[in-house]
Amino acid sequence: MKTDMTDGNDTVILEIKNLTKHFPIYRGFLRRIVGNVQAVNNVSFSVKSGETLGIVGESGCGKTTLARVILRAYEATSGEVLYRQNGEMINIFSLKGQELKKLRRDMQIIFQDPFSSLNPRKTVMEIIAEPLRIHGISRGQELKLRVGELLELVGLNVKHMNRYPNAFSGGQRQRIGIARALALRPKLVICDEPVSALDVSVQAQVINLLEDLQNELGLTYLFIAHDLSVVEHISDRIVVMYLGSIVEMVPAQELYKNPKHPYTEALLSAVPSIDPNTHKTRIILPGEIPNPSDPPPGCKFHTRCRYAREICSKETPKWRDMGNDHYVACHLADQLTLQGITNNL
Ligand code: SF4
Repeated sequence: MKTDMTDGNDTVILEIKNLTKHFPIYRGFLRRIVGNVQAVNNVSFSVKSGETLGIVGESGCGKTTLARVILRAYEATSGEVLYRQNGEMINIFSLKGQELKKLRRDMQIIFQDPFSSLNPRKTVMEIIAEPLRIHGISRGQELKLRVGELLELVGLNVKHMNRYPNAFSGGQRQRIGIARALALRPKLVICDEPVSALDVSVQAQVINLLEDLQNELGLTYLFIAHDLSVVEHISDRIVVMYLGSIVEMVPAQELYKNPKHPYTEALLSAVPSIDPNTHKTRIILPGEIPNPSDPPPGCKFHTRCRYAREICSKETPKWRDMGNDHYVACHLADQLTLQGITNNL
């Protein structure tokens, strides 16, 4: 668990305001819109420079769509994404041409699957050099030197730059993906489940590498994961998403000790304990995550929540400030005593 913001800086670098992304559902010959997949709903948060914000939730909760909207891979349905550039917060949806190209240098992504995200017909040299070529940053011998530097930075042997991805293990391929993401010296890196396709034995190595790179290069991370055990040690704060909405946002240590949302409690119950004397009860959520094109009324979690009361299916819970930078959307937040974990910290 990190205890300090890496550069001791409280400057906000990214601010998401009421961001919504719905995908229309078309039917029939005339392709009429008959509904919407509500992938991201009214999401707001900010990220400080040098911070790691973990974003956690089950598959289909909207976290990857959120990342793609921030990177402008998808157009937002509504809302704003503000990013700090040259001391000013700019709305990235207003950027075009060269300004947008400059933004893309600042924001990079590390993909989930190191097997499909690297072109098998290109050498490591070609893969890492590609963004440098596209942005016209270096060429010739200088380009080769820069690729060598990046390989060293991520702990790979420079002599292997002419090999193809299939010559590397999963963990090494993810290091190549990290080197490619860092080639343009970004400030903000979105890590989209960067270790979930890797063996447990190499997950910690890649997370440690990401932490070291953050300290060395002053990076800010949005770290997406589907379970809380992965984000535990790298995050400063954690956002928990359910069915396209944020249900809890809290400093990492506080979340593990003192969860306030029943969904967070269920996710925490699945985190393996490192203390053999600790006995936790695993909470198995009933049913499937509801259809995002037809979410339940009231609290979207009420169909699976073991504490649900009548009000939960009728009224949408408000966003509540629980103090100490802890926010939650639950009608019963101040009445429930939920099971956290303290031994892992
Ligand atoms: Fe559960 Fe009700 Fe809280 Fe929703 S509002 S999480 S259903 S207790």
